[in-house]
Amino acid sequence: MTMQLEPHTEISTIAGRVQCTRDAFRAGVTRPFEWRRTQLQGMIAMLTEHEQEFLDALRHDLGKPTVEGFITDIAFVTGEIKMMMKNLKKWNAPIRVSSPLVTMPAKSRLMPEPLGVALVIAPWNYPVQLLLVPAAGAIAAGNAVVLKPSEVSTAVSTLLATLVPQYLDSEAIAIIEGGVAETTELLAQQYDHIFYTGNGTVGRVVMAAAARHLTPVTLELGGKSPVIVDASANVRVAARRIAWGKWLNAGQTCVAPDYVLVHESIQGKLIAELQSVLTDFYGAEPHDSSSYARIVSDRHFDRLQSMMTSGTPAVGGDSIKEDRYISPTVLTQVDPASQVMREEIFGPILPILPMANINEAIEFVTSRPHPLALYVFAEDKKVVSDVLARTTAGGVTVNGTIMHLTNPKLPFGGVGESGMGGYHGKAGVRVFQHLKPVLTRGTALDPSIAYPPYTARKLKLFRKVL
Ligand code: NAD
Repeated sequence: MTMQLEPHTEISTIAGRVQCTRDAFRAGVTRPFEWRRTQLQGMIAMLTEHEQEFLDALRHDLGKPTVEGFITDIAFVTGEIKMMMKNLKKWNAPIRVSSPLVTMPAKSRLMPEPLGVALVIAPWNYPVQLLLVPAAGAIAAGNAVVLKPSEVSTAVSTLLATLVPQYLDSEAIAIIEGGVAETTELLAQQYDHIFYTGNGTVGRVVMAAAARHLTPVTLELGGKSPVIVDASANVRVAARRIAWGKWLNAGQTCVAPDYVLVHESIQGKLIAELQSVLTDFYGAEPHDSSSYARIVSDRHFDRLQSMMTSGTPAVGGDSIKEDRYISPTVLTQVDPASQVMREEIFGPILPILPMANINEAIEFVTSRPHPLALYVFAEDKKVVSDVLARTTAGGVTVNGTIMHLTNPKLPFGGVGESGMGGYHGKAGVRVFQHLKPVLTRGTALDPSIAYPPYTARKLKLFRKVL
């Protein structure tokens, strides 16, 4: 992994670039279905014709294994775009609704219309997916778009900045690179929607900037997503599914299991199964495995290193700074007040805390901010329904991890501290639409009862019909 300079766009050009997208929107460029289809097709062509370059860039930035890069940052994106293309007309069609008696004769409908110019700001962990899936939704809804990839994933940012203008309409779709200074300048401009994915601290900065123009926001944030493993769980399957969700992208996944609350009677068994499944996945020496990613930056590496001291490694605990490698690590004897339990981990360290019963686990979760995801492993249906009824989370997978976000019929997003708004599938297009209510009245009937002068007789009639 060689160092690369942070990519950036000249700040003095940013306002003009954003204005150009607004001019394109105002001129009606982005509304025709033909334009939307061409852009969506362009995105697919960009990803498929340059697939290897994207996979190489992901490997450069995150040591991302080819299979993971292909599934999460190529196939997932093209799958979402294809679905949008297939449903383009349907998801933009007026929705007929009934009309009340007082409006008769009338017809009512909700007319989806684009909002205008959407700004999409993405983080570094799934740098292609988290930029292009929201952008595709904005385009499918007929908006102009400004894209801001993360400066932390340098190679992906540079590649996107080169390819996007080649494949997409540069007047209506701008890509701006850079970090805090460039994003601050970007946020000073006016948009009709801001879609931000990243941490909650910057989420607050984005929301404050949006408030100046009364711009609506979608905030896809993170947090500590818990896993509850009940005594009734299938421990072998639980270990495998927790391990996959946790150590995918070396734990740098917004919905990765952050920590495990396990029934104390099966803690030893769960740790033994995790150890065994990790050997199946990555061999005896995960460092040499081509299926295991690296930490994105020295800053994140140092942060994770300091979290290691919050408990005792039962599995792993090794690291190599020059390679930004941290082994899959299971921590035990963790103090709930320690750093690893205070901050989102966002790395390959998994603290395991024993619980005496399911109530204790539920109280542990509900006494903390609402997580982006919650996972419960249990064969006992009563336990599952208790957890679902008494906890709040952005989304849930029962007896699994991560998978709820792969169903496009389940809008993906957070609640409370983990964010606001959801997307994927139809929800990903709806985010960027205003459903304009339109009531159209017929003129053949126009009874005078509805108009002044008001009389006692009219009041009597209204009392009957309203
Ligand atoms: P990051 O550092 O790449 O930041 C995200 C974006 O914010 C970048 O484009 C960056 O340029 C911009 N930014 C940074 N500082 C800024 C500032 N002061 N003003 C304006 N913009 C600024 O990524 P990150 O925040 O480290 O990402 C990790 C976080 O994102 C984790 O909390 C994770 O859980 C969350 N996340 C959430 C989702 C989701 O879908 N909900 C997905 C991935 C990551």
